[in-house]
Amino acid sequence: MPRESLYWFVVFYIFAYILQDVEMRNIHAPYESPASQCGYLSCHPTKPNMLNVHLIAHTHDDVGWLKTVDQYYYGSETNIQKAGVQYIIDSVVDALLKDPEKRFIYVESAYFFKWWREQTSVVQESVQKLVKEGRLEFIGGAWSMNDEATTHYQSIIDQFSWGLRRLNDTFGECGRPRVGWQIDPFGHSREMASIFAQMGFDGMFFGRLDYQDKDERLMTKNAEMIWHGSANLGKTSDLFTGALYNNYQAPEGFCFDILCTDDPIIDGKHSPDNNVKERVDAFLDYAKTQSKYYRTNNVIITMGGDFTYQAAQVYYKNLDKLIRYSNARQVNGSNINLIYSTPSCYLKSLHESGITWPTKSDDFFPYASDPHAYWTGYFTSRPTLKRYERDGNHFLQVCKQLSAMAPNKSPEFEAHLTFLRETLGIMQHHDAITGTEKQKVALDYAKRMSVGVRACAANTRNVLNQLSVKSETSSRTSEPRADYLLDFKICPLLNITSCPVSESNDRFALTLYNPLAHFTDEYVRVPVSHYNYKVIDNNGAAMNIQILPVPHSVMKIKKKILKAEYELVFFATNLPPMGYRTYYIEKWNSSENFARPNVSPKKTSSLTVIGNEHIKLGFDTNGFLSEVTADGLTQIISQEFLYYEGAKGNNEEFLNRSSGAYIFRPNQNKIHFVATQVDIEVYRGEIVQEVRQKFNDWISQVVRVYRAKSYAEFEWLVGPIPINDNVGKEVITRFTSGIESAGTFYTDSNGREMIKRRRNQRDTWNLKLNEEVSGNYYPVTTKIALEDGTARMAILTDRAQGGSSLQDGAIELMVHRRLLHDDAFGVGEALNETEQGEGLIARGKHFFSFGQSGNRSGISLKATERIAQLENMLPAWQFFSNMKSYNSEEWLTSFKNIGISLALPKPVHLLTLEPWHQNQLLVRFEHIMEKGEDVLYSRPVQINVKSVLSSFDIDDMRETTLDGNAWLNETERLQFVPDSEQEVYNSYATFSRSAKAIHLLSAAKPLLGVKYYDEALPSGQLGAESNRIKRAAYTERPELHKDDQAPGSMAADFTLKSGSDHQQYTIELSPMQIRTFVVTLSHV
Ligand SMILES: [Zn+2]
Repeated sequence: MPRESLYWFVVFYIFAYILQDVEMRNIHAPYESPASQCGYLSCHPTKPNMLNVHLIAHTHDDVGWLKTVDQYYYGSETNIQKAGVQYIIDSVVDALLKDPEKRFIYVESAYFFKWWREQTSVVQESVQKLVKEGRLEFIGGAWSMNDEATTHYQSIIDQFSWGLRRLNDTFGECGRPRVGWQIDPFGHSREMASIFAQMGFDGMFFGRLDYQDKDERLMTKNAEMIWHGSANLGKTSDLFTGALYNNYQAPEGFCFDILCTDDPIIDGKHSPDNNVKERVDAFLDYAKTQSKYYRTNNVIITMGGDFTYQAAQVYYKNLDKLIRYSNARQVNGSNINLIYSTPSCYLKSLHESGITWPTKSDDFFPYASDPHAYWTGYFTSRPTLKRYERDGNHFLQVCKQLSAMAPNKSPEFEAHLTFLRETLGIMQHHDAITGTEKQKVALDYAKRMSVGVRACAANTRNVLNQLSVKSETSSRTSEPRADYLLDFKICPLLNITSCPVSESNDRFALTLYNPLAHFTDEYVRVPVSHYNYKVIDNNGAAMNIQILPVPHSVMKIKKKILKAEYELVFFATNLPPMGYRTYYIEKWNSSENFARPNVSPKKTSSLTVIGNEHIKLGFDTNGFLSEVTADGLTQIISQEFLYYEGAKGNNEEFLNRSSGAYIFRPNQNKIHFVATQVDIEVYRGEIVQEVRQKFNDWISQVVRVYRAKSYAEFEWLVGPIPINDNVGKEVITRFTSGIESAGTFYTDSNGREMIKRRRNQRDTWNLKLNEEVSGNYYPVTTKIALEDGTARMAILTDRAQGGSSLQDGAIELMVHRRLLHDDAFGVGEALNETEQGEGLIARGKHFFSFGQSGNRSGISLKATERIAQLENMLPAWQFFSNMKSYNSEEWLTSFKNIGISLALPKPVHLLTLEPWHQNQLLVRFEHIMEKGEDVLYSRPVQINVKSVLSSFDIDDMRETTLDGNAWLNETERLQFVPDSEQEVYNSYATFSRSAKAIHLLSAAKPLLGVKYYDEALPSGQLGAESNRIKRAAYTERPELHKDDQAPGSMAADFTLKSGSDHQQYTIELSPMQIRTFVVTLSHV
């Protein structure tokens, strides 16, 4: 495109963007011209007979950590950290424009687009040029560099989709990242690898892995590998993955940034300080050493760090000299070649080397940076922020769906939705949801969430009013109304039974919006101030209800807030797929037929049992859970709360590590009981039965079984954790069964596939464990389970937590932690959360499932758990409306209920439905079962998209990569070839004994150095050598579902009936497959 028309396009584009109305018929913006030289075409040439050193100029810009997002962006609070992202991008762009040789990568879209919006069109045009020529390259590209342990796959996919969409809208094909860049997250999940692969990425590099694993991988040249991201999806989930040599820092002595104190290269010919020879010698030695641990004649050296390049010319000037003086030695026989490069150019060189690579099938958890620093505390840190993030995702999905189905779209919809999208993107950052930020930064995240949810609630209120008001009621206008008939308020404090609308009105309506594309039945709890109510459904039928008093421990928190003393419970059935049903709730003045809920009389001599025909729980005379009957099995199963004392030390050497926001390190691995006797109250009703346990003054729990559910709920409440003994405490819940699990248990990977864990063991090296408790902790995003030949026990969580099985048959989950010391990884504060001067109280739910592990009639327990997991993550959203102006008859005739989607088969989840470009929807379907989880539900499923989304007028549909920003059939990925079995064996046989370096990562966050002493980590003692016999070659390769479609497949059972003209809309999903489509709607 000629220059001047490009200019006008840019101007038009910006204008259009401001209007939030940019029309993008093609996924790729039309910036790309044949002259584009971005991506692999822009790489500087390497020299085939030399060691090519790829210098990566980069900056790592945390989207909040010690400072808030805005403080980092604008560079305020310099006393905390000298970090201003706006200066980084300013100065890098200047430096790049001056010299076409230079390269830079940028990662965090949250910051980039904040900056972009502030630029003049002239600057934007220059940046377009830099991107088009591959001089500025986006890498990673998501809204933030997400954590991989505590994040849910839905939110990871969402925040990549949004970051990549903004890049695509702005820069077209050249803005699309090819490589993942997870340099700082504290361990790496297999699901993340799978997601990258499905988004079409060619590879991924990261910085942090267990120090023993790293040692082993370097010694055996296995630090770069093909990672099998899924046990279900085959090759489409394979990702080339590289562990960086020096985390993401510059080699020691070569940080030329203004934030560092290393010497510049001094090349004055006669300067007494001239250090060219010495510096170049040192750098080339470093490169040579590094190359010994990698397979090709290329090495990648990261030249940057946290918030580096605020004065880019300082770094670049020295890199220029380093390159010039190093390469000048080639005329004298040096065979080392330094180039400005990017991770994708490095990856291209690896690909072109034509060699084969090792493979990996497990994950990189937990991460240990030294023998006593297991980064497993952050799996639980800040439990209430972790839960809030889940709530935020829940509402984001509701808001997306309702915004997509709005008959009339208000101009502000897109901005509101985008604000919540971007807030959730920020929340996934590896110092946000992880709980490893400073307290005031955590508060800033919470505030953003609150604003985001409120903004989107303006959309949902508008849309629900449009949808529910019958035409005669609002015949005056088709415009979205400014004054709404109904409030559709949201109540963010329902978890402590608090909601102003239901507590203070005698008549109100509860609208349950079901974000799943299945019919659901749900037990609903509503805060109310009295015990006389009637509830009628949208057909005028009275509902059975049960009233329960709010638990004492919850009343204690609420005292300061509101007055609901009761919870009204009823069973809402047949909630339509992606639709809603409204209930009219009215206080009843007659006191007949109503009575205060009563506690069942106390038993003192025998078992207290609650339950239904599916599951029964027995509690002993001391008030503890003691046995469970389900599925025809009865087992002794106990549940209790315990705590570890957080280790306390000065952090100056490994042994003196404190437990903190990142690190879980219990004092002497000792466990403490919180109670020997538990006070209980029992409530029995038609709808739910509850045992309310009080363990002590700061731990209580409601254990409940609903009439029709096959699992039990354990709603725990922990806090304020006492610290008057000056000891930090880490509280766990533990379920102990007789299941003979033989050291094996299973945890989920970001809420999707389950990964097998073995106590005191890692799959790929001989583990030497110095921390037997924390070294066995794994991230549990949604589920932890164990089983033997007979029985299976699983716990589903409502937020990410750390979990383990430290004895056979036992599962523990850490629910809350309060610590008094910093663990010296940079945050500089103890994790001591308080609220109104007292320790923070956390409340949450565990869903407990138990039954037969095999031979079960009906669907398997695993499949039941998957469905329960989905329904508990995305239950119906509760909207409350004051009904002062409508009695129940008026209400019945004035409003309507709708469902917009046809019900999908149970194993299929409509993962995404959101407004995309104009007249477009982004839609994702997911098969939620793994292979073999259930005889019926694990089969491939066919659905017809047009039938499912029958209320939309669909014109066209095209499949994209997982992120929704590239057409699937136009996406090609670099293919890497795995080692043959013989090569796997040989690579161990050539293990070099002479390698003497133990490449222990400096685990400290940069800028805040912590001193480490060498604690007995001499060469060879980490078991590298002996591992080679035990390590198995990975020959078992999962294949795509094609094999499963043997004749007789019952996929057709699930096939929705559809006319033949709908063939193009019929899709098939194999276990764990997600398929993403951009659906184009007809203009109305
Ligand atoms: Zn970071």
